[in-house]
Amino acid sequence: MGYGGWARTFIADVRVWQKEGPETDYYATQAIVGHGSFGTYLKQIRRRENDECWFGCEVPDTPAHTIFECPKFDEVRRQAKDKVGKEVTEGNVEEMLVRSEDSGLAVMEMLREIMKIKERDEYKWEATREGGHNPPSSG
Ligand SMILES: [Zn+2]
Repeated sequence: MGYGGWARTFIADVRVWQKEGPETDYYATQAIVGHGSFGTYLKQIRRRENDECWFGCEVPDTPAHTIFECPKFDEVRRQAKDKVGKEVTEGNVEEMLVRSEDSGLAVMEMLREIMKIKERDEYKWEATREGGHNPPSSG
């Protein structure tokens, strides 16, 4: 348990991963497991009231949205694409991770960068909430 369907987007076969897959770390693990700075997850654990993407996309902020769709991370994805040779998508990320060492590292770097930015912005968002719901201009 724990590794739901989402993790299989990255790890189709744990044995192959252990043999060929790159090292994971704190940030990459969040992306792979789907537990981290994602609106849907934060709502599930009651840290947030709604699960919308906090970069203004007006869609539920699922791990798939953050990693493969959200325009906020277009630049990070473009850098990965330059290194891997093609766009990393939900459909090919698993293959890209184990295809070669370079490819795997580039994808891990992409996941790490995205989650770092995401987490930083989550804290920023929570800090602005500290004072409550009232706009600062009041009283
Ligand atoms: Zn978004």
